Amino acid sequence: LEAKEEFEHSSLAVDVMRPRRSDPPLAVLTQDSMTLGEVEALVESTHYSGFPVVVSQESQRLVGFVFRRDLLISIDNARKRQEGVVSASLVVFTEHAPAQAPEAPPFTVTDHTAMDITVDIFRKLGLRQCLVTHNGRLLGIITKKDILKHMAQIANRDPDSILFN
Ligand code: ADP
Repeated sequence: LEAKEEFEHSSLAVDVMRPRRSDPPLAVLTQDSMTLGEVEALVESTHYSGFPVVVSQESQRLVGFVFRRDLLISIDNARKRQEGVVSASLVVFTEHAPAQAPEAPPFTVTDHTAMDITVDIFRKLGLRQCLVTHNGRLLGIITKKDILKHMAQIANRDPDSILFN
């Protein structure tokens, strides 16, 4: 039992987050330096449910998180209703769209946060995803499914494990 407790504490956010070493890098949007064409290309070339927004590629400082479906709706609206919107138009992400309720900022944990604590946060706040940072720089993302997969892997290694029950 003690060994299991130790194992529970040895699993960190960095062990569960994506991208893994062999994966393509995290798909992020920049706050105010991408064109509509670039944003559309990124959204179309990936299947992710959302994208972190950072100040710049160099800083990787987190500004927010935008859901794929919200982004697609906004782009569609802008293309249809806003005059002069073309692929070369600059896209600017603000904290909340005009006349919209302010959104809660994305939840973050650091790479060294223990997974038992991260799981607790997911449960208590009903999160679907959480971003992972290191020294204030965006490093990765953990979705609910990533956690479930991680738990299944642990259970496979140790069928008697009562971890995260
Ligand atoms: P789910 O995990 O529920 O399928 P997603 O479709 O958003 O949710 O994510 C699929 C996988 O890609 C997950 O392993 C997740 O960690 C990862 N992921 C999610 N968003 C991004 C992103 N913007 N860039 C890179 N990887 C991502």
